[in-house]
Amino acid sequence: MGAQIIDGKALALEVRQKAAADVAAMVAAGKNKPGLATVLVGENPASKVYVSSKQKACAEAGMDSFGFHLPADASQEEVEKLVKELNADPRVNGILVQLPLPDHLDEERVLGSIDLEKDVDGFHPINIGRLAQKGRDPLFVPCTPAGCIEMLDRLNVKLEGTNAVVLGRSNIVGMPVALLLVRRNATVTICHSRTKDLPGVVRQADVLIAAVGRANMVRGDWVKPGAVVIDVGINRIEDPTHPKGSRLVGDVMFDEVKEVAGAITPVPGGVGPMTIAMLMQNTVRAAKIQNP
Ligand code: NDP
Repeated sequence: MGAQIIDGKALALEVRQKAAADVAAMVAAGKNKPGLATVLVGENPASKVYVSSKQKACAEAGMDSFGFHLPADASQEEVEKLVKELNADPRVNGILVQLPLPDHLDEERVLGSIDLEKDVDGFHPINIGRLAQKGRDPLFVPCTPAGCIEMLDRLNVKLEGTNAVVLGRSNIVGMPVALLLVRRNATVTICHSRTKDLPGVVRQADVLIAAVGRANMVRGDWVKPGAVVIDVGINRIEDPTHPKGSRLVGDVMFDEVKEVAGAITPVPGGVGPMTIAMLMQNTVRAAKIQNP
């Protein structure tokens, strides 16, 4: 029997509709609309697409967005000065610095300069640190990892006591999603480029989160029958049969794994839409924290 195909767009729409309803209620109560500032440095085409879809999502949720675009050679001081101005701007409830930043910039210093209460991407070192500590809670959780868990919750997937395997240990996805799974009482194995016998480890997973950035890496015979598979990867591969000559695929060989898994997210249409939805949710939360 084939897997349930998890409809990330539909689940994300539910989250976005809730955010829009919260915004409408805030405005009806005489409060300001929540506002998100996006900071883009340089000309990375993928980053430009991500920023513009985040701005569009703000408009659809009834929120303000303020776009700032600095040149690729912007200095550390210029980027931090902009962040400080946004920290002080009462119209701005959330600040999103689009990653990756150009190599000459110190990413940690930029992220650390964002006001904790405006850190809607959840990458401030203090928010990440709190995520890793028992009994402490971050103000915001990074959007892609939060989106993975939100999906699992909305599908009523029980996490407590399950074996969860996370492929990837990046600051943006792998590590925070692993921390979230531990907080939900899953037993978590984190894999990376030096892991031995990856297929053997993956086969133990009741819940598998793949975030490696390697097209179609996870094969059907790596997956335990009935496992829930969340594919975070977004990889462009050549495909002469496609009008654009290329198409997007995940880290999981979808056609093989869907025959084995209990449920699986597609790429596109899985985790991607959830990431933006969680950003909207975090921005509403930021506005509520700042204007209770
Ligand atoms: P990174 O490149 O920062 O991290 C990749 C991780 O995968 C690293 O920990 C690396 O190990 C590990 N890895 C790489 N190759 C292998 C391998 N052959 N076997 C085992 N582990 C491996 O990527 P990100 O975490 O930023 O992104 C991962 C994927 O998710 C990308 O495709 C990205 O486009 C996508 N993404 C999707 C988002 C969404 O909204 N859907 C949002 C963000 C990312 P090591 O640490 O040892 O180098």
